[in-house]
Amino acid sequence: MKKKVKKVSKKLIKSKKTHKKDISKPSKKNIQKKQVISPKILRKKKIVIGNWKENPATSEDVKNIISGVKSVVKDLKKTDIILCAPHAFISQVSSSFSKNLNKNVSVGAQDLSVKKGGSFTGEVSGTMIRSVGATYVIIGHSERRAVGETDEIVNTKLLLALQSDLKPIVCVGESVRDDQGEYLSYIKNQIKSALNGMSPKYADKIIIAYEPIWAVGSKEMQTVSPYEMHQMSIFIKKYLIEILGLAPATMVPVVYGGSVTAENAAAIVGEGEADGVLVGRESLDLIKFKQLLKNVDLVK
Ligand code: PEP
Repeated sequence: MKKKVKKVSKKLIKSKKTHKKDISKPSKKNIQKKQVISPKILRKKKIVIGNWKENPATSEDVKNIISGVKSVVKDLKKTDIILCAPHAFISQVSSSFSKNLNKNVSVGAQDLSVKKGGSFTGEVSGTMIRSVGATYVIIGHSERRAVGETDEIVNTKLLLALQSDLKPIVCVGESVRDDQGEYLSYIKNQIKSALNGMSPKYADKIIIAYEPIWAVGSKEMQTVSPYEMHQMSIFIKKYLIEILGLAPATMVPVVYGGSVTAENAAAIVGEGEADGVLVGRESLDLIKFKQLLKNVDLVK
């Protein structure tokens, strides 16, 4: 496995030293680079990711969700939507949104194969996913980690996704919060190993989704408080600066996921300063999801 990871990451690996040198020397070239970077740093748009999981049951149901989402997207001024559908529906979702009229809607997958192709029955490669219209892919969701996905697999998938021109949405999160703050090191390690071997030049292609396991799918709809999300967002962004360098790190959105609802989403992106939210269950309830999108869009 290790050998394969190395092979996959070969193209993506660039010396961090070189990158740091690029942005610290005040040459003409570097000044131009900063000008290109700055609009992304000032990105005001929030991201709402819908994770449909193993839903809905039929292609007919997908049609209903699409028409519901379509009825609200045109009114959204400051929100980008990423709909992460099961592999079977990616093509349908992708072809239902016009590339010109619905620029704020993208399609994502929920996973990709750890292999590029071959005799791996049931697997779907990044290239296949990209070729049917998805531009994003969730990697390392807690529901996949729960069935055996290791940090090493998450890393291989991230590098393969980038090679396939897919933007990875990397999920990290602790199962419990301890008073000593051990969970912070746990999250750091998850990020460190997920991004292992990735050149900082790919920073503008990734999204980090902070999804505490105790909040994902919680029956009591338990979430972090906006204050806790703000703290976590600062913590993750500071760590990204450490491993990627300042300019690349500022391009990485950090979103929150775990029992997000129409009621709590605005506070999480407002006071909580999350760059967006990852929504599971409520992304399938059209009335609630439409309200959630409107509420997030109203956040200043
Ligand atoms: C998820 O699917 O990642 C998720 C956060 O689910 P839910 O919003 O239902 O907790």
